[in-house]
Amino acid sequence: MDFYGHVIDGEEVESLDGARFDTVDPFTRAPWAQIALGGKADADRAVAAARKAFDEGPWPRMGFAERGRILHKLADLIEQHADELALADTRDMGKPITQSRGNDVPRAAHNFRFFADHARLSTGEVLPMDTGHHAYTRFEAAGVVAAIAPWNFPLMLETWKVAPALAWGNTVVLKPAEDTPVSATILARLALEAGMPPGVFNVVHGYGPDSVGQALTEDGRVDRITFTGESGTGRVIARAASANLTPVSLELGGKGANVVFADADLENAVDWSIRAIFTNAGQVCLAGSRIYVQRAVYDEFLSRFVDAAERMVIGDPREPGTQIGPLASEEHYRKVRGYVETIESEGGKLRTGGLGNGWVVRPTVIVEMPPDARHCREEIFGPVVVVMPFDTEAEAVDLVNDTPYGLNAMLFTENVHRAHRVSAALKAGTVWVNCFFVRDLRAPFGGVGDSGIGREGGNFSREFFTEPKAVVMQI
Ligand code: NAD
Repeated sequence: MDFYGHVIDGEEVESLDGARFDTVDPFTRAPWAQIALGGKADADRAVAAARKAFDEGPWPRMGFAERGRILHKLADLIEQHADELALADTRDMGKPITQSRGNDVPRAAHNFRFFADHARLSTGEVLPMDTGHHAYTRFEAAGVVAAIAPWNFPLMLETWKVAPALAWGNTVVLKPAEDTPVSATILARLALEAGMPPGVFNVVHGYGPDSVGQALTEDGRVDRITFTGESGTGRVIARAASANLTPVSLELGGKGANVVFADADLENAVDWSIRAIFTNAGQVCLAGSRIYVQRAVYDEFLSRFVDAAERMVIGDPREPGTQIGPLASEEHYRKVRGYVETIESEGGKLRTGGLGNGWVVRPTVIVEMPPDARHCREEIFGPVVVVMPFDTEAEAVDLVNDTPYGLNAMLFTENVHRAHRVSAALKAGTVWVNCFFVRDLRAPFGGVGDSGIGREGGNFSREFFTEPKAVVMQI
């Protein structure tokens, strides 16, 4: 089996104690690669390398153009290694290759290009003052960034954090999720090949609690923690960070809702609603796992939606025709299976789907579920959706907002007034109207309530990954 190490201070290395772990392919349910298993001592030396590279190395002192050249080179290398990177994520977590190759890897390259250019072209505020003074803002690199990532979009979400952090002159220690370690080591190898100085981008593998992840969040040499993962983990990380008053950005869980009004273009609504819940086998923080349909079109929507769900191709994620692969790990499969097995005891009806072979859950549609059931309230993070009717616009808004989460919502209507009115009323970091998952990297991304703290994207990433400094001059 191939081995993937930590990348610390420009070298790919074993753990100090030589420990390794296997990463498992959820389709074959067999190990496919060996990974360095880090502990606190490995996190310590990765932070020390990043600290030194920040305090003494060239990276924060280079101009934006020079850093940008290296980041663009890295983006080119990502594209040249697209097959290898896509296969790594597909083998690590069962994501269909068409998604990793067609979406995630191109998006990773785009993240580096976008943030390199955004940082270079960014302008600060200039404030001529009535008093004869002149104030302006400098955006100075914050220092060492710890980036802790989940397993559902490994490379794509890691680069969403690493690219802006690096573009603004920080140094980084990335801890990928233990279920999806491989693409991070490949990325770090490519960063060195692109000419990134040693210690600027480090990767350290291992677990969260009592391990590498926790050590990073408790380290006083870290200046920023950017985390994407479960809301419960976010709370633990926020507590750890508070000891050193380290600023945190938390992108957490969700329970996205789609609202389909009777005046919607139904074909479009079905098409997006299918993608919103079944892309990546529902392992998407933004998944539209609650669908509210206005009663006049409920039956029609449901029948078309169920038809489309039943036509989805389940299989080997490495096959280009596959739309649904296995869930990412046995542990996660067991969690989602728990929801599937309790549909009827919670008061709902299984309209289609259920358990498949291995760690597969088929596209599963639940109807008649009471709104206070776990399936309507908790993040299942699998291909499981509840479809429910509603009567009035006000009722739909109440249903969508009746959740501790607030990451995103989708609404489908041909009435432009309603589109704006309902968008304003929904408790969500992002509202998509007549679409889903369409992103502009300049836009704020983040959540309300249990879905997180802070926003990333464009200037929002700049605010987080820099220390904005006001300079006031008498002129
Ligand atoms: P998780 O919280 O279990 O783990 C995420 C990362 O945190 C992993 O790298 C893990 O090792 C690490 N970790 C765990 N405990 C830690 C600790 N005590 N200290 C430091 N690090 C620790 O999440 P997951 O299961 O990998 O990912 C799925 C979750 O992520 C879902 O809730 C999903 O909604 C959320 N998510 C959110 C977004 C978003 O942008 N809001 C995007 C993708 C996923």
